[in-house]
Amino acid sequence: MSKYNTKKQYDQSLISHAIDVVKSRLSIETLAPGLKKASNTEYHMPCFWCGGTNRFWWNFAGTMQGKGACRQCNISCDIIDIYKKINGIDNIIEVIKQVAPETLEQKDFKEFQPFTEQPPKNDNKIDNKIKEHWENRCSIQGPGLIKRLLCDRRKIDHETVDILIKAGRVKSCNHTGVMSVAFPFLSLQGEIQAIQFLTIDEQPFPFTTKGENCSPANKVFFKGSKPGGDRFFFAGQPIDQAEGNLFILEGIINSITMAQFYPDACILALGGSTYTKKLEALKPYLNRFEKIICCGDNDEAGQKLNQAIRAALGGENK
Ligand SMILES: [Zn+2]
Repeated sequence: MSKYNTKKQYDQSLISHAIDVVKSRLSIETLAPGLKKASNTEYHMPCFWCGGTNRFWWNFAGTMQGKGACRQCNISCDIIDIYKKINGIDNIIEVIKQVAPETLEQKDFKEFQPFTEQPPKNDNKIDNKIKEHWENRCSIQGPGLIKRLLCDRRKIDHETVDILIKAGRVKSCNHTGVMSVAFPFLSLQGEIQAIQFLTIDEQPFPFTTKGENCSPANKVFFKGSKPGGDRFFFAGQPIDQAEGNLFILEGIINSITMAQFYPDACILALGGSTYTKKLEALKPYLNRFEKIICCGDNDEAGQKLNQAIRAALGGENK
């Protein structure tokens, strides 16, 4: 990203994200219409800089995807350089203002606290091993890895993922030798009680494929994790601040997907364990929501979730 000169008043992570959005919105096909493929990976075309006919090539696939170069004037460039050249702009901020202006608005990220008011009485013990692992061994230095799983593979938008990263609700981690994305399960007091790891490319963790009765898994909990009881993955706003809706989902990815569309709601993932206890813990907070929307998978676990919710609501229809 350092090749782009950015003005100081913008946060660097904001600019990085804005540049990603700009790149996703620009295409060589619209900037240079009427292109013909010269091979399975390249277009050849007149150069935007020297005008050399058919001396410029653009890689639309392969290892050089998104890069172009000219055999006459030796310029090498990406799609943003071409946009700048065509439009006579020399400043990346100006490009962003034209192509993705909304990305320059600094978002107000809420703190990583499920509760902002007086928390309920806490009888959970804090497992320092889990806390230490989350704080020191899991990192936000690998946003590319996090985005490979969440954006590229699971099609969640970059903005939602950036909010999660900034709020400390996702990190990356080398877990048993495999680069993984890590998610925290918190008690209602906001203390970390469990960490779930998902492999980046959704391959099973090697240690789950060994032995006779193995069940290969791309999703595992950190040793000593206690995801049961009143612990949740929080994808949305604090439970005592959220407006309107409470979403209760089974899995983390589903809850993040929902957070894209309902950024002001409280969105919880139960994480697959005994639902009854979890819903019991939520009971004091259910009344403040207009709607409680529960999306269980279409299977046995999903049905149990629906039953547990009805029991917790005591027959109230919401
Ligand atoms: Zn040229």
